[in-house]
Amino acid sequence: MKQILVIGGLDPGAGAGITADVKTAAAHGVHALTVVTSVTAQDAGGLRAAMPVPPELLLEELRSAVRDVPVAAVKIGMLGDAATVRTLAAFLRENELGPVDVDPVLRASAGGSLLDGEGRQLLTEELLPLAALVTPNLAEAAALCGFPVDDREAMEKAGRAIVERFGCGAVVKGGHLPGAPFDLVCVPGQAPHWLPGERRMHREVHGTGCAFSTALACRLAEGLNPVAAAQAAKRYLAAAIAGAESATRDPDAPRRLRFFPHF
Ligand code: PLP
Repeated sequence: MKQILVIGGLDPGAGAGITADVKTAAAHGVHALTVVTSVTAQDAGGLRAAMPVPPELLLEELRSAVRDVPVAAVKIGMLGDAATVRTLAAFLRENELGPVDVDPVLRASAGGSLLDGEGRQLLTEELLPLAALVTPNLAEAAALCGFPVDDREAMEKAGRAIVERFGCGAVVKGGHLPGAPFDLVCVPGQAPHWLPGERRMHREVHGTGCAFSTALACRLAEGLNPVAAAQAAKRYLAAAIAGAESATRDPDAPRRLRFFPHF
């Protein structure tokens, strides 16, 4: 069984964050070693509180996670603050752990910042240059690049800018585009590659970004190239969202679905 390392925040609703990562990895038959960066309190009303794990404890978590087992890929989600980014970047520079996939989580969709200002700066300066792929949605791509990203032309400009400025590949996710949700894969040295998709669910399901990025890490761990890994992750997500659609037809389902079934 492959093992990946997932690093991120704890969401008590278990829809997003590290719990979603573990469920996604399990659905891929992959074991997820888990390192918590921040304990959050959040629900459909937004982020209510968050406490970053102190850097010394974070470092011990990281050391323990990788001490006894080989790691085939790394997925990074919520980071919270600059100290966490700094600690993690130093650890990754010292440990060769396979391809690193960064979900540049900045805000919860229900409201609330998941990475502070200095952390955002360090993310681009220290962490992205160590990554194989970063998986921004449109708002995150705009924040990383410093220009609006709201159509396919701007997505392509953003994908190229990320490759050029930060030296990593990018999967720019077009799930918030009007119309069909095209995603774009940009990898250093290759032409941009569009992945078409179908619009499925109109209401937001919490945690889809986390699940996509972890599915991608599972496929990178298997040795798939970034385009094939992104295609497979997109198929996984479409099936999981279809599962959520049928779950919402259940009369007992909550009005706003806070999670989706992963298998
Ligand atoms: N909370 C945590 C701990 C996360 O890692 C993420 C996303 O990565 C979120 C919340 C945001 O999820 P969403 O925007 O789908 O609510």
